[in-house]
Amino acid sequence: MPEKNSMGIKIVTGVAVIFCVLMLAEGSAYAELIVGYAPDADEIKLVDTEVDKDMPAGFPDDQVVYNGITFNLYYLDLQNNTNVGFDNDASTGPKAQARFKETLQYVASVINETGTLDVVVNESQTDGSGFLAAAGTYFSNTPGFQMGSTMSRLKNDIKPFNGYEEVYLTVDFGWNWYLDKGTPGFSQPDFLTVLLHEMTHSLGLISLCSNTGDSVVAPNVYSMWDKEVVRRTGMFNLFVGTPPEFTGALFDLTGQNLAFAGSEAFLRYGHGLAPGVYAPSTWQSGSSISHWDTGNIIGGAVMEHLVVTGTTRREWSPVDIGALVDLGYTNIDPMEVEGEGAEEGEGAEEGEGAEEGEGAEEGEGAEEGEGAEEGEGAEEGEGVEEGEGIEEGEGVEEGEGAVIEGEGAEEEGEGAVEGEGEGEGNNDGCMCNKESYQKFEIEKILDDIFMFLLMTVVLAAWRRKS
Ligand SMILES: [Zn+2]
Repeated sequence: MPEKNSMGIKIVTGVAVIFCVLMLAEGSAYAELIVGYAPDADEIKLVDTEVDKDMPAGFPDDQVVYNGITFNLYYLDLQNNTNVGFDNDASTGPKAQARFKETLQYVASVINETGTLDVVVNESQTDGSGFLAAAGTYFSNTPGFQMGSTMSRLKNDIKPFNGYEEVYLTVDFGWNWYLDKGTPGFSQPDFLTVLLHEMTHSLGLISLCSNTGDSVVAPNVYSMWDKEVVRRTGMFNLFVGTPPEFTGALFDLTGQNLAFAGSEAFLRYGHGLAPGVYAPSTWQSGSSISHWDTGNIIGGAVMEHLVVTGTTRREWSPVDIGALVDLGYTNIDPMEVEGEGAEEGEGAEEGEGAEEGEGAEEGEGAEEGEGAEEGEGAEEGEGVEEGEGIEEGEGVEEGEGAVIEGEGAEEEGEGAVEGEGEGEGNNDGCMCNKESYQKFEIEKILDDIFMFLLMTVVLAAWRRKS
């Protein structure tokens, strides 16, 4: 994957942005066509199944068996002795492999599917430019709304494309990764967080829409995610029909007015509106439409297009999970109905309050420690990390000048909002409980966030002066 093209997940001080670029593999006539697509690299892989075989021959290098799913892992770093990335000889190898296993275990534990997936981890990049990581899956050229080969194999128990893995992943180890399970440094992207983001694309949270509305894969081939993408005004579907066609307008693609209409995403998001889909005013290949509307998802989510360094999001938020159910992962545990939810929700918030260490809130932190009975101990761990969301807020400002890729202004704006998202990350605690909030809870949280942001701004201004 050429890095000059790449824009996967980008980093600025404190901010990493997921972007993408198009890259067409060579090839001309394809009798039977399958196409791999990896959003964050915006990499399109055209392959002729009669000629190419993508999967390495022989046994996998490793296997993860967890909650009904067997992941066969092929590490090309190992097979080709690259001495970087996931290679056992690389300083990063053991931890990188361990984190990837944990990511797969987490995925298996939530989606509750049974079956096998072949996973190819490509030779790692080391240039530290362009995307942080990118993963994809394969589609055929048969018109329709497709699941992608990863989901297809899990749901149908049949390998969709012989000789081809279902999941492929590339990581650029040139970045300053945080490869452990604690709290990443301020300038470090969190490996677990990014791997989960990438795996989620491969599971099917992926748009095949190009900047013209046509499919990047083949005519009239769109994803299950695309099927639910609507213009918020009127909840007008952008892709409709048999076979599906782009029925939206070009302005929809860059109009910042898209949403995801899936009912589970709506319910689990729990804020009384359809979660927004990323459609920035400048089309971002591989990023637009394949993500949530970064900065406008209350509580944040794994599938926003931004990854903020120094923070973690190692579990799906309710809206991510809702979308997965809408895509077809219907064995995911049903949403719990209210009850303890509220309490836990609070527990979570405070947990963060504490970590943020910003004075007043900590007091609460203490209480929450207790509120946390519900096994929120774990979440709180996360709370800590989110606490750093604060810094991100600041990070954003610092990074502003430095935003690498176009859209500087906008990104920053969003980055800032993300800061909020992180602040709200409290919701994470709840996400795990799959609770939807009651309105007063939301308002309370929003108030807290507002106060917190206000304090942050004041503090930042004061620091600058002094
Ligand atoms: Zn992405």
